[in-house]
Amino acid sequence: MKTDSITLSPIPVRKTTQSKLATVDFNDIPFGKTFADHMFLMDYSAGSWNNPRIEPFGPIPMHPACSGIHYGQSIFEGMKAYRNPAGTPLLFRPDQNIERFNRSAERMGMPAVPPALFMQALRELVLLDRNWIPDRAGSSLYIRPLMYATDEFIGIRVADNYRLVIMGSPASIYYPKPVEVVVAQHYVRAFKGGTGFAKAAGNYGATMLPLRMARERGFDQVLWVDGVDFQAIHEIGTMNVFFVFKDKVVTPPTAEGTILLGVTRDSVIALLRDRGIPVVEEKITVNEVVSAYDSGALLEMFGTGTAATIAQIGRLGYQERDLLFDDSRWELSASLKAELADLRTGVLPDRFGWNVVLE
Ligand SMILES: *Cc1c(COP(=O)(O)O)cnc(C)c1O
Repeated sequence: MKTDSITLSPIPVRKTTQSKLATVDFNDIPFGKTFADHMFLMDYSAGSWNNPRIEPFGPIPMHPACSGIHYGQSIFEGMKAYRNPAGTPLLFRPDQNIERFNRSAERMGMPAVPPALFMQALRELVLLDRNWIPDRAGSSLYIRPLMYATDEFIGIRVADNYRLVIMGSPASIYYPKPVEVVVAQHYVRAFKGGTGFAKAAGNYGATMLPLRMARERGFDQVLWVDGVDFQAIHEIGTMNVFFVFKDKVVTPPTAEGTILLGVTRDSVIALLRDRGIPVVEEKITVNEVVSAYDSGALLEMFGTGTAATIAQIGRLGYQERDLLFDDSRWELSASLKAELADLRTGVLPDRFGWNVVLE
């Protein structure tokens, strides 16, 4: 690939002359609305990535026929930077996000980004904006890579031109209270052979109407299930899902490509195995969850994702039923959440080798 010819020379930086840092109240940051001072940009044309650069954060001009907007060749990622107790920036498992980004790119017919170059971009951007990483417990700098097709062309074809953007957004706690989810009926997020495993823009666009309907009924999110009999559980809109039973923990399998392979999901599985708690990736139906709830065998249900980390589920709506979960039983989810937070912030030794220290 031509992209191999990119040498990792320093990325040119144009610094902002007007930092917004002093205007931000780090005690009160609504998720996804505040952006760090700089962004990374790089363009793909004629078969290679060109012109990597860091610029002041701001609007990007767009041609009205920009093909990524019309036809959905658009993918993204989400990861977080933290500070360790000494104040040094850490990235949590960025290699996993880079790999997944390139899997998403492949599924959408888009070019891969050379992992070393991607990592260099993350490193230089985060180090430049390191003062944007909040140091309050539960806070972090959310990092959003985005790639979209930029052909100025109306017509369905695989685009020749793409842009990679990486931006940072300081974040505090995503779900301040237990999450209330409703089982999808009628609408489907993903199906075998589709794009469910990719972080592709269209996957989310298709969920907006059902999401609005769920919100109108007082739920936060939709619990997506298979589209054949609406029984096999897939995941929650932005989170993978775990069920805690008396004797084991269950999370849906990813083999059919209908589920996003969450980095948090993978980390939670590793933590459970490390504790010697049986965890299985196997099919679980809504009916099984309802009957385990009724018999008392189901103790906890939680979602996992970078934005929310671990989010306990307080209510599960299914047809006419409303299953309420009692927070006094939330032991495992609470301790996993605490351990993960301490690993991500370097409070605990990094025994899994998950943190990339940026120095
Ligand atoms: C991003 C995302 C997740 C969580 O993945 P993480 O890597 O843990 O952040 C789960 N489901 C969907 C649909 C997602 O988009």
